[in-house]
Amino acid sequence: MDGDQLWPAHPHPYRGELLSSWLVRVAHANGLKVQTFCRLTFGNDRQVWNRDIDRLAPAWLVETMSARTGTPLQRAWQTTLLSYRCKLFEHANIAGQLRWILPLKMYHRKRLGHGIQFCPRCLAEDAEPYFRLAWRVAFYTYCPKHDCMLLDRCPQCGQGVAYHRIELGHPDITSTAPLSNCWSCGFDYRQAEVEPIDRWSECTFQSWTKALRLVDHGAPSSTRFDYGKLAVLHQAAKLLLSGSANRRLAGYVAERTGQESQTTVVGRLAIESCDVAKRHWALGLAWWLVGRWPSRIRMAWQLHALRYNWLLRDFKAAPDWYQAFVVTLRCSTTGTGLQSHNSCIHRRIRNKCQIR
Ligand SMILES: [Zn+2]
Ligand SMILES: [Zn+2]
Repeated sequence: MDGDQLWPAHPHPYRGELLSSWLVRVAHANGLKVQTFCRLTFGNDRQVWNRDIDRLAPAWLVETMSARTGTPLQRAWQTTLLSYRCKLFEHANIAGQLRWILPLKMYHRKRLGHGIQFCPRCLAEDAEPYFRLAWRVAFYTYCPKHDCMLLDRCPQCGQGVAYHRIELGHPDITSTAPLSNCWSCGFDYRQAEVEPIDRWSECTFQSWTKALRLVDHGAPSSTRFDYGKLAVLHQAAKLLLSGSANRRLAGYVAERTGQESQTTVVGRLAIESCDVAKRHWALGLAWWLVGRWPSRIRMAWQLHALRYNWLLRDFKAAPDWYQAFVVTLRCSTTGTGLQSHNSCIHRRIRNKCQIR
């Protein structure tokens, strides 16, 4: 396994494939178990699986994958979640939550979270099952191709997806078990029943599906899309999932839309930490609320379902159009006239420029 030559088997990444999924497939294609392959390739000193390699891939890993599979380096980097930088999140912090990216909650080599989702139908249609970048995105709660909910855990044993563990503790299992097998109980995710999505508001689901398609194949290529909309959606989801805002706002939106209210959130719950069902619920309400911008959110404010000062709370880098709207609410609240409202906007923008 020494040298810079191509590995005997050197599959390239599939469209939208995650680095971790690609790496496990490469190991299997070479007839080796993942842990053995990584030890032989990267040495004992370079640990691969004690980190979230899709989120924070070390350069040596990506460069080796590129060189020894004959994949262009840029393409190899596209298998990491950095593809979404400056689109779904601003900076790739080493610690801390990345906006919209589901965490794996690493604990040594174990993963305690449910940060890798999947669509059983997509896996069943693959010539060789593989896991997608988009399935790590928090608003990606359903498959736009199959109109069904994603799963974020094994339906048989409840464990999260961890295909790098497929052969651990199973010396008798061949190294070519497909990635769609549960590492814990062996259940084949492709056999899982799927739940069709309930498109309770057609225009809400149209916007949502458009956003899913945008991140579908990894690096979003469209520059025309206003990613600020997704930042605003994130803020709305945050309000729907936090303490007092949850009770008032979620109750209001649920009533208006005929959805369940689930107004029992205590404290703050990050959307990225919720299971897929809870995220789907909160995001449905959030998409509805920011739809027909800004009439619905203004109505919610007029009916006292939200306070204007919630709208910018802990919201870094809010888009200008959103900040301007919040200022209009504040000016209405304080009863200031149009002239002072305009100077509010100018002051806000000027302050922002100075901060930058
Ligand atoms: Zn699908
Ligand atoms: Zn299982």
